[in-house]
Formats: sequence, C-alpha cells, structure tokens
Amino acid sequence: MNLLKIAGCPNCRTENASEILFKDEFRKYRKLVFISRYGKDTDLFQCNECKTKYINVGQGKLYHKLSIKSEELFFKFFDKENIFSKRVKEVLEKIGTPPGIFEYPVQLKTKNKQVYEYSVIRFLESVWPISLNINSMHFVSEIDEVMPSNEAMTLQQRKTAYEAPEIQMGSSPIWLKKNEIIYMTQYSQYFIPKAYGKPEDFSIELEINKPKPVFSSVPIVYFIGPVNV
Ligand SMILES: [Zn+2]
Repeated sequence: MNLLKIAGCPNCRTENASEILFKDEFRKYRKLVFISRYGKDTDLFQCNECKTKYINVGQGKLYHKLSIKSEELFFKFFDKENIFSKRVKEVLEKIGTPPGIFEYPVQLKTKNKQVYEYSVIRFLESVWPISLNINSMHFVSEIDEVMPSNEAMTLQQRKTAYEAPEIQMGSSPIWLKKNEIIYMTQYSQYFIPKAYGKPEDFSIELEINKPKPVFSSVPIVYFIGPVNV
C-alpha cells in the first residue's frame, strides 16, 4: 500500500470525532495544507476535503484537531487584541516571576468590573486543544487592572518551589515555617490564604520527610495570553 496515496485527513473517515491526534511521519495526508503560523512555533493546517483545522506545535509530529469550540478559543488566544495595558505590565514586572516562566499570582479587575481575588496571569508560547476545552477560559485582554495580592507567595518562595528537584515529576513542594509550625505547599498553589498570616512571615525550610499540614486551597482563576506580549 502506498501511504502517499491517502487522501483527506483522519477526520474525513471518523464521523467528526471530537478529539483527533495523529502523527504525520509519512506525510501521508496530502490534503492537509499549511495555513499560517501563530506565535513562535504553532502551525495551523486545514484539510482541503473536510475543512477540519489542525494545529502542530513546535514542528512536532503530533497534529491536534481543533474542535469548533477550541478553534474559537485558539483564535481568541492569538488575537492581536489579546494583550494588556502598559499599566498592567508595570505591575507584573514588580510582582516578578521565577526565571524562564511567566506566571503572576495577582488580584485583578476585568473590564466587566468583575473582581478576582485569586488570579494567575499566565503567558504561554502556545495553547493546546486539550487546554482550550475548559469551559471558563479567560484571556489577558479582559483585564482592566491588576493589583499585587497580599496572599500571593513571595517571589523567593515561588522561585524556591519552582526549583524543587521534584519538578521533573510534576511536583514542586516547598516547606514554609511560621511560629514553629511547618506547612507543605506547592508552586502551583501560588497563594497562602490570609487566615494563616502574611506570606512574607513564613521562612523557607529544607525538606523534612514527615507529613506536614497543608494550607486550605483557594479557587484560582487563570487568564492566559501569548508569551510575546
Ligand atoms: Zn479531512
């Protein structure tokens, strides 16, 4: 069988499956045409037969189908309006982020006057269809005002947690001490609820291999935008 002769794309033969992932190692889908590049390295393709759109990130081998919902969010993410004001940028620079990542725990107000006490502004190089299927996706273009949060972990605490060796396994624990009580938390929790006291009053402890209490978690709302803004 000559793989080069396969026409269309996987969607042409699957009754509109909601999720399709496939490899293009043999470049067998001749009807899949390149449309445009978004951001640093996200390529958009479309099937000439069924018009299904796919993205390929970082010239990887995997092509991800964009569902109608994820397509809308994909274009919103890369829209030139999905940026924030200079005023917001200045606040984010003061809050800081560990080297090489772009995540800021903040309080913020949207242009619709909605206030979010626990928000994380996250800049990404690209978005994957799977992360676009979240129902309440927020974009940095919705932000009107950003304020530092008194409950956000300090930059040093976030840096230390992010540098945890366990990060390779998807975990980033940090031990924080106040008044002789040691708590364990994670980089991804970003906040220390005010009932426990101010984040800056906690010192960083070395790892201690005993179970430790954890802070109660807070409901975090994420706002995403492309990293080059
Ligand atoms: Zn197709």
